[in-house]
Amino acid sequence: MAWFKREKKPIEQTTPPEERRVRTEGLWIKCDSCGTIIFRKDLEANLFVCPKCQFHFKMNAKQRLALLLDGRWTEHDSGMMSTDPLKFVDTKPYARRIKEAQKKLGVNDAVITAEGQLNGRPVVCCAMEFGFIGGSMGAVVGEKVTRGIELAMETRQPFIAVSCSGGARMMEGTISLMQLAKVSAALARLDDAKLPYISLLTDPTTGGVTASFAMLGDLNIGEPGALIGFAGPRVIEQTIRQKLPEGFQRSEFLLDHGFLDAVVHRKDLKNYIAGALDLLLT
Ligand SMILES: [Zn+2]
Repeated sequence: MAWFKREKKPIEQTTPPEERRVRTEGLWIKCDSCGTIIFRKDLEANLFVCPKCQFHFKMNAKQRLALLLDGRWTEHDSGMMSTDPLKFVDTKPYARRIKEAQKKLGVNDAVITAEGQLNGRPVVCCAMEFGFIGGSMGAVVGEKVTRGIELAMETRQPFIAVSCSGGARMMEGTISLMQLAKVSAALARLDDAKLPYISLLTDPTTGGVTASFAMLGDLNIGEPGALIGFAGPRVIEQTIRQKLPEGFQRSEFLLDHGFLDAVVHRKDLKNYIAGALDLLLT
């Protein structure tokens, strides 16, 4: 018998294989902008803003509502979900894509409608969930935002929308595009009712969402460095056959060119919106 053969039984493994790894994964995050490695807890405590370069990381819908609203809020239309009207299939069936996103994120579509208070003032706020099929707007998002606006009218509260979206949802074709008209019409009624609408555009806000409610605010506020546009830069360059300037389609560029009213750092957002509502409602 070879001397190196193990004669005794190996030490019994009591921990299951999936728990044997040291859990450091996900504790640290690298900043997309400056490359600094940030401790996740520090990043969360800093409202998901890089402490070194002030790069604004994406926030999900619930984090966004926690940032803007005081404590508890009531969710509306949470059960609404897509019926997959076109029975659409690309690399996988749309119905499966929806189910997977619902399971992963715990929301039924790409927007949460919340009724709560912002610095003590009652508001209706729709916050988009980018993780849900790129925050795309299909029939459910369009309908929920419309109902959110209608709720604001019924209860005489200001309306706030936080956009974070790749645009219309391709898997619902024309039905997605019809949402642009529907939401815009509802906002016109909100305007007739003399209620303010504040639009917050976060990274990224593009396509059909930019082309409808995101740009229709009484105040359009962007987060620093957010990509905001309709078509992507490559498509525009090919169409106009010109090189685009530096910083094109970023919040600061849009502010300089009159497409936004303000670019506000995340830590100042809540107070800024509260101040704006004070002005608009007096
Ligand atoms: Zn950074």
